[in-house]
Amino acid sequence: MEASASFYLCPTCFNISESARECHGRQMIRCDPGTPSDERRKPLTDAEGHLKSHAPRWFLEAVGSLPTPQAHRAVPKAALA
Ligand SMILES: [Zn+2]
Repeated sequence: MEASASFYLCPTCFNISESARECHGRQMIRCDPGTPSDERRKPLTDAEGHLKSHAPRWFLEAVGSLPTPQAHRAVPKAALA
């Protein structure tokens, strides 16, 4: 089992924390950048390969700019059998 690289981030001041806590009057958001080779560590590009954002995909997911890819995270029941 791989250790989780997830952490918590304040979207106001970008302080990070290993545990969920409040910063600037609101709960920090959970970020999960995945493993070093994870596609979500790359910035978002369009069909022609142009950058759509300089932020990595995991950040856009964390702040709600992108829907979380459920298919990416869901573990099929068959894989557990
Ligand atoms: Zn803060």
